[in-house]
Amino acid sequence: MNMPDIQTINEQQLHLHSPVCFDWFHPYTCPYRSESPHGGEGRDKGVLIATERGLECIDCGYLQPLPRPREFSLESSLALASSLGLDVRKMLQEQRISVQQLIDAYREALSTKGAIVEGMTPEQAEQADKAWRCIDTMLLCLHRVQLALDGVETRPGREFSLSPDWITDEQHPSPGQWIEVVGRRTEHDGSHSYRIHTLPFQDWKFLPVSIGAKVLGWRPARM
Ligand SMILES: [Zn+2]
Repeated sequence: MNMPDIQTINEQQLHLHSPVCFDWFHPYTCPYRSESPHGGEGRDKGVLIATERGLECIDCGYLQPLPRPREFSLESSLALASSLGLDVRKMLQEQRISVQQLIDAYREALSTKGAIVEGMTPEQAEQADKAWRCIDTMLLCLHRVQLALDGVETRPGREFSLSPDWITDEQHPSPGQWIEVVGRRTEHDGSHSYRIHTLPFQDWKFLPVSIGAKVLGWRPARM
């Protein structure tokens, strides 16, 4: 299974591909979610995460093969909403809020379920390590959705593009200004991964070092 499919399946698991429920379906969840405590960070109990290994549970390590990604996409959903005369701007704004809530929930899960602490059995440590890798994959997918909603195309298999409100030239922001940065962190299958940061600008030269990424564009932060 390749990164574009993993991205699509994770978006579908969290209903991010269809913000107006044109293609609602129950996400794939862990079959053991009622037997032991399972988290609700994916908006339902025990929502499985798509990774290179399959669909994985971050609570018990359950693993099943990846499904085929569905055809419905965020773009087709928005195009359909627009043709029906719905308020697409409002939908995008609501979508940004819900993506941020999901990022916060998964970050919280990363700090609890992904932490290896003293006194753990080897099995517990192995599960924490697996959970960490799963959640990290989901966070990467969520950051890509966040950037797509902000007009930056970073999904694997798609050409990287910055919309005009991102500044890509050598112009530097003013000292003390809050900015959003898009940068290159890692590469998967020949395509790039990006994350967004809001940082107080101090010395532009040190920004790429402090975020561990090559800065590709910036714009004033929306406070
Ligand atoms: Zn489970």
